[in-house]
Amino acid sequence: MRGLVTKSTGSWYLVESEAGKRIQCRIKGKFRTKGIKTTNPVAVGDWVQYEYEPDQDSAIITALEPRKNYIIRRSINLSKQAQIIGANLDQALLVVTLASPPTSLGFIDRFLVTAEAYDIPAVLVFNKLDLFSEEGVDILADYMAIYEQIGYPCYAVSAREKTNMAEVRQLLKDKTTLVSGHSGVGKSTLINAIEPSVELKTGEISDWSDKGKHTTTFAEMIDLSFGGKLIDTPGIRELGIVDIEKGELAHFFPEMRARLNECRFHNCRHINEPGCVVLEAVENGEIESSRYDSYLSIYHNQDTRN
Ligand code: GDP
Repeated sequence: MRGLVTKSTGSWYLVESEAGKRIQCRIKGKFRTKGIKTTNPVAVGDWVQYEYEPDQDSAIITALEPRKNYIIRRSINLSKQAQIIGANLDQALLVVTLASPPTSLGFIDRFLVTAEAYDIPAVLVFNKLDLFSEEGVDILADYMAIYEQIGYPCYAVSAREKTNMAEVRQLLKDKTTLVSGHSGVGKSTLINAIEPSVELKTGEISDWSDKGKHTTTFAEMIDLSFGGKLIDTPGIRELGIVDIEKGELAHFFPEMRARLNECRFHNCRHINEPGCVVLEAVENGEIESSRYDSYLSIYHNQDTRN
């Protein structure tokens, strides 16, 4: 039998058969993901083969079909193991807010680098539009312009007031989309607004220093009634960049990637080298300084290989 993994709790997996029946599965045998050590061999979005157990109430996953792509996060115990949080994705959507709580540009940029590294188109949804004054909306437009200019589609919405939901539905229609965002940005409220039948619990936060409450902890696939699927990633604060080499990092910033061949040195790190076109572009404002700061921060601090 062939099915799609729609939920994973570590030891149990919920698999949807091609006929649409959901069945609890366990795994038997070893499943490997080439190149990385993973804490979970099978992830939401994976297509698997399974066999019913004699009781017929549950099944065993016997094989994993090749993935189009996947996205991971580093495991919390820093053991160099990674958790695969979604597979076979068409796009990754990050919900962000400029206030209440503010999402840092560094956080946004790390998410985008991860999506680039796994070759998954990324989209930014700026939520809580209703909180902004006219001046705030202008600032929001400036932020959106930074990302739109380098090729990332941006949407401004209010999940609470259901503003601009038609555009978001259009974006999600007939695609498999991983939805991410740190706690409190309104990811659950947004999913509920897009697909009211889902009824995800939303965490009430009293002020922005409060991180909000996690209501569930495992990735789960949600069917969209208008076509398409969401992979919700509750409690997943940040995606991981485990296997980017420092020398490759600039390739994952589209505005740098476009210029790399023009640097004087072919192995330019874009830090202080003479004849570096990236530095030149930062100085003359063609590359946004916040983006370059994120490059430096990932280059120096992240768990990247030398
Ligand atoms: P999650 O942690 O990202 O899933 O966030 P929730 O959906 O639980 O929302 C966190 C808080 O933000 C809740 O108090 C929501 O009511 C509030 N919230 C969500 N969307 C909006 C919005 O568009 N505008 C405003 N003002 N508040 C929102």
